[in-house]
Amino acid sequence: MQSNKESNQKLIERFPFLMPRNCWTGEVPEDYDYSYTELDSMPDGWRKAFGEQMCEDIREELVHAEYLDQYRISQIKEKYGTLCWYDFGCTERMLRDIIPKYEHLSARTCIRCGNPATKVSTGWISPYCDTCAGEISHAERFIAIEKWLDRSSREVTSKRSLNEKDTHSL
Ligand SMILES: [Zn+2]
Repeated sequence: MQSNKESNQKLIERFPFLMPRNCWTGEVPEDYDYSYTELDSMPDGWRKAFGEQMCEDIREELVHAEYLDQYRISQIKEKYGTLCWYDFGCTERMLRDIIPKYEHLSARTCIRCGNPATKVSTGWISPYCDTCAGEISHAERFIAIEKWLDRSSREVTSKRSLNEKDTHSL
């Protein structure tokens, strides 16, 4: 597919950190032919909703820090319904603002089509919109996204209050 390779080449010209590299040596694979980029590891819905915008934000910060050509991604993946973006040598602003902003957004964005998520699947935890949830409902059970996000934050809170009780009882 020539057009896919061409668009990948353009993508890497603008965002050099999307170039696939050996994670130990940092070398680009010898037979690399632009048929894929690191961004392919991002689930389709998220890529559609904010993938390139996230790269733009990172690029802008790296240009500002004069680090665009040195910055490396180690892995892009999904874990418990949230984007994880692992890298080497990011700036303070990327660590505190840019990357967390998109990780937060991913938990609320349909992993399949990129629309706002309304549900979370409970087998393999992933956010979905109503339409996509309907299309895969034979394989998954769902809970409302508010319930899921609320539960995640309540678990943190209850652990905290438990620790406080322990402290009081001492
Ligand atoms: Zn969807």
